[in-house]
Amino acid sequence: MPFDIQVTRTREPKPRPPAGDLGFGRFYGDHLFLADHEGRGWKNPRIVPYGPIPLDPAASALQYAQAMFEGMKAVPGERCPLLFRPQMHIRRFNASARRLCMPEVPEEDFLHALRALVREDASWVPTEPGASLYVRPTMIGTEAFLGVRPSQKYLLYVLTSPVGNYFGPRPTPLRLWVETEHVRAARGGIGAAKAGANYVAGMAAGERAKKAGFHQVVWLDQNHRNVEEAGTMNIFFRIGDTVVTPPLEDSLLAGVTRDSALQLLREWKVTVQERAVSIAEVAEASARGELKEAFGTGTAATISAIGELQWGEKTIRLGDGRGEIADRLYRAMMELFGSRRPDRRGWLVPVDGS
Ligand SMILES: *Cc1c(COP(=O)(O)O)cnc(C)c1O
Repeated sequence: MPFDIQVTRTREPKPRPPAGDLGFGRFYGDHLFLADHEGRGWKNPRIVPYGPIPLDPAASALQYAQAMFEGMKAVPGERCPLLFRPQMHIRRFNASARRLCMPEVPEEDFLHALRALVREDASWVPTEPGASLYVRPTMIGTEAFLGVRPSQKYLLYVLTSPVGNYFGPRPTPLRLWVETEHVRAARGGIGAAKAGANYVAGMAAGERAKKAGFHQVVWLDQNHRNVEEAGTMNIFFRIGDTVVTPPLEDSLLAGVTRDSALQLLREWKVTVQERAVSIAEVAEASARGELKEAFGTGTAATISAIGELQWGEKTIRLGDGRGEIADRLYRAMMELFGSRRPDRRGWLVPVDGS
């Protein structure tokens, strides 16, 4: 039996934000899904009008960052909205939970909750091309206790947010700063979990890069040698005719978009390698004229072409940044999101039904 969800609908639906002016994460839907965990199992699953949540100032999420989230999208469908690969996001949510000593959510219950919430907020799914309803499951430790151990109480909640294209209406090639001082995550750390703490670790370097005119940073590993990610995206390079992306170490986030891109590339018979790639190798490939393109992948931005990498004094340019593979992937993903019906891979899951 999946969650028996109590639904309290809003009596004051909010005005819809103007199309074309959505940005990322500026507007929120009318409802929240919530569930509590105390000791054993999830209780009181409910959908309520969107609003603040009460939290004790000593809560472990606030004191020790026992907090994590997911990010997935819903797109318009013929009959009802479609969620993109929700099961994979749920499995990753539970993997993050295990790493952070937090309780898992049974897959079937979680999917049921996501569908129910998106059904309630269906009118918030934007219909313009490239836009989507971003769905943000979050879990926080809520027990008021200052001793250092896992919280004994948790809140699971899911909010929705209509979003436009992350980097603007027409994605511009990214200029990225290769960060050689800070690291986002180290081996043995929590880099593979979608923890808010990983994001704050990267903020100082991100801000420094933005002040210097870059969009984001490229993260290297703890030895400042191998490339790991691009901001909050996974990263790909095309060297000659081979597409290379770093392998899934525990300092990297296993992106659903990364997985989707790899699957499409393999279907297209493009040679792909998941292997360590050093920033020196990237620079050398560029010097030989073999670095054809680079791009980032993530739910928010989908596929983002990279136009330039600044590594110390060295500027690595990637033509006009509109690489052939990145472009083909971007178009394939946009076509999929715009198709309005479940696909043959089973990636688009209707929110109708239980
Ligand atoms: C969420 C995230 C990604 C992208 O994952 P998707 O599932 O493709 O959205 C990549 N890197 C980091 C650090 C992330 O947090």
